[in-house]
Amino acid sequence: MSSSVSLSSPEKGPQLRTQCAICHHNSQPVFEKYGYWIRACQNCGHHFADLVPDVTHAQQVYGDDYFEGGGAGYSDYLAEAKLLKKHGRRYGLKVNKYTKPGRLLDVGSAAGFILQGLIDTGWQGMGIEPNDRVATYARENLGLPVQTGTLEELSPQDFGNNTYDLITFIQVIPHFYNLRQALSVAASVTASDGYWLIETWNRSSWTARVLGQGWHEYSPPSVLHWFSPEEIASLGSQFGFRVVAKGRPSKWINGGHAKSLLRYKFQDSAIGRLLIPLLNLVPDGMDFPYPAEDLFWILLQKSN
Ligand SMILES: [Zn+2]
Repeated sequence: MSSSVSLSSPEKGPQLRTQCAICHHNSQPVFEKYGYWIRACQNCGHHFADLVPDVTHAQQVYGDDYFEGGGAGYSDYLAEAKLLKKHGRRYGLKVNKYTKPGRLLDVGSAAGFILQGLIDTGWQGMGIEPNDRVATYARENLGLPVQTGTLEELSPQDFGNNTYDLITFIQVIPHFYNLRQALSVAASVTASDGYWLIETWNRSSWTARVLGQGWHEYSPPSVLHWFSPEEIASLGSQFGFRVVAKGRPSKWINGGHAKSLLRYKFQDSAIGRLLIPLLNLVPDGMDFPYPAEDLFWILLQKSN
């Protein structure tokens, strides 16, 4: 891939706002969140934000507060590094049941930890990441080939005729400012019989349906799309991919993070407050599975 990027025609994919990016039908506004309307497709039910983002979207949303955002702190993010690498390794081992490791492109690779985990399972990987600071971190601290940019900005020529046996989109696909353009580029640089591994939040999950508008993933403008597994399968088929496998990942969090979440939950009840001192028995460095019912992964294979 060259270091320069060429802007692609925005006409290639339907714009957000009223038209569904999956089935092209019209939509209607269903509720407002953080000052943006969330629309639902009248045909397939896909939810998306009523705004027209552009190339500046990724830079604005994934600014340098990525490391410091949410009060988590840079050091906490680095503590998560170990868990993210494990997450990548688990996905690498999963995909290796279906194909031999080959060339990998990790889209939205952030500081490269998940990419490093995938590489540890035999893949020859590179990444692309909109935030230059985290991309630089991946290059300088992990020695990984991570290019600063977005998939939408690139054309297949920017990849220098390279194709990839696996493209991973780990919690990335709802953030694309031009979903169809991004997937079109990805499809054209996927090797024949190559795979896409997508992990994203499930709008049709029990959690999302119970919480409704209060579901944490309804957070425009950083999140622009809310999918069900069926919608991802439909989208994949339009780009020549068929579903090979799907499931639910476990999120792993470290003891420090788990304790702060539980303290917050326990303080609402008398019994909970009695339990808070017991949390001190949990070592900060111990890892815990955190069941995420509203998250799914799906593996697709190029079939034409
Ligand atoms: Zn639709």
